[in-house]
Amino acid sequence: MSGQLRISPWLANRLACPYDSQALELRGTAMRCPNGHTHRIVSGIPVLLRDDVEETHWHATQAREAPEAGYPSAVVNGISEYVQQGIGATGGYMYGPLTGRLIEYPIPRTRLPPGEGRALLDLGCNWGRWTIASARAGYRAVGIDPSLPGIQAAYDVAKELGVQADFVVGDARFLPFAANTFDAVFSYSVLQHFAKTDVSQTLTECSRVLVPSGFALIQMANKLGVRSLFHQAKRRFREPSLFQVRYWTPRELETVFSALIGPTALSVDGFFSLNAQPEEARLLPARFRAVVSASEMLRSLSRRIPTLRHVADSLYVESRKK
Ligand SMILES: [Zn+2]
Repeated sequence: MSGQLRISPWLANRLACPYDSQALELRGTAMRCPNGHTHRIVSGIPVLLRDDVEETHWHATQAREAPEAGYPSAVVNGISEYVQQGIGATGGYMYGPLTGRLIEYPIPRTRLPPGEGRALLDLGCNWGRWTIASARAGYRAVGIDPSLPGIQAAYDVAKELGVQADFVVGDARFLPFAANTFDAVFSYSVLQHFAKTDVSQTLTECSRVLVPSGFALIQMANKLGVRSLFHQAKRRFREPSLFQVRYWTPRELETVFSALIGPTALSVDGFFSLNAQPEEARLLPARFRAVVSASEMLRSLSRRIPTLRHVADSLYVESRKK
């Protein structure tokens, strides 16, 4: 029966119902928990979403209503069509000019320590760029995202690049995994889009699925960042709505992450954008390459001048489970 699942047996044994965290069993083309919750498997991918909560993204409804075989996914000139069209949204504004023009997959280098076979969960992985980056760094990597086309594309990209990783459809606030499953949780450019109550719920779930002394490394947007202030001014400091970026002060990040996961430290991801990845700069237009260089220069300076952290736009929040 397990032949119809695309995920590894290791992960299949650790899946849990997003309603009640009970173990899931494969029954035909669905997975069921002892309390009778049934979750579909679409083109070999478990769809582990709840239908009784407000979604963080319309992708969740799309996944729940997907046809049995999933959505059509095409690979054009060696690059997934989904990634070609979505690169501006999944990579960030500097990647917009690459829409439809990718000649390779932009896979960043992770700042995580070497994985050495440890299990890692990538929250909001979409087409899997950071999950793949983590797998390349030696992690047993699992990506989760509410987008079914995103997860289908992630399988296509991982296969194309010869990377072994698992992907499931799910909601970061109701993680469909047993407690103590992961050594590390990673997330990039995802929680910064969540309402603060959803972030708290997600961090509580991260703590549940982390092993004791496991850690989380999560990218967030700094309220005091140079470019962040410009963006907040543009929307006149109104409260953000829907999927707009939520800005947090460094103090607020430390307080909330410490309370919900454990001891927390901040480090700089970048300046002047929320997504400058130095390994990918060569793929970007010249004006953005200059932004990435300036960001990298300040990031390296921030190791000697820690106060620079306070004005970086993009921060990494690292928390170790208590
Ligand atoms: Zn259940």
